[in-house]
Amino acid sequence: MKNHILSLSFLFLFTSLAQAAPFTVETKEGKSTFDIDDSFSAEQSMLMKNALVKLSRVATEVGKSNYLIWVSERVTRIRPAPETEEHAGATAYYEDQSIFVKPVFFESYNQSDFQISILVHEARHSDPYPHVMCSRKLSPKLRPEMKKQIACDGNEMGAYGTQFIFLIDLMKQNLNTQNLEADLKDLGVRILDEKAREKLQNTARTVFPDFSL
Ligand SMILES: [Zn+2]
Repeated sequence: MKNHILSLSFLFLFTSLAQAAPFTVETKEGKSTFDIDDSFSAEQSMLMKNALVKLSRVATEVGKSNYLIWVSERVTRIRPAPETEEHAGATAYYEDQSIFVKPVFFESYNQSDFQISILVHEARHSDPYPHVMCSRKLSPKLRPEMKKQIACDGNEMGAYGTQFIFLIDLMKQNLNTQNLEADLKDLGVRILDEKAREKLQNTARTVFPDFSL
């Protein structure tokens, strides 16, 4: 009986710790707090916290802020996505000031910097910048299977362009050790406006001189 009471109090302690979900990162640019849902596993939660800390190390273009502050101005909570058919094929999605993360986000975490850029992408959707239907007529280098998918943007201001610029900032600030050229191409060809693609292409050439979209 005594043992039983002991294990119950441990359970209570564990539960109350797990509910202490707010996660704050403090940098010289300011403080950012997120509510990280307590239904993530301990490992997932740790990976997410590492991702957020890395975001705080990347200065935005203007240099007055960092990407974590930028994300926290748009997102207050990070939660596991419920298992539904909705948002099929997505790694994460934005809804109601929250980023919903699917298990695949953590499974492919070996490409960690790309995963981190997904958080920037999702935060941009809050502004709101929804995707538009892809068109190979407008962006000839799009993969054939992308045709008619709602997975493109009209210009560079949307989620893909913002994600693209984040990855360039990451590389320019020497915070990345991975080769993200193929990922950048995949993002860049999703911008349907030719002038906007050219703009992103020129930005990418500061890192990859032969970059073309
Ligand atoms: Zn999106």
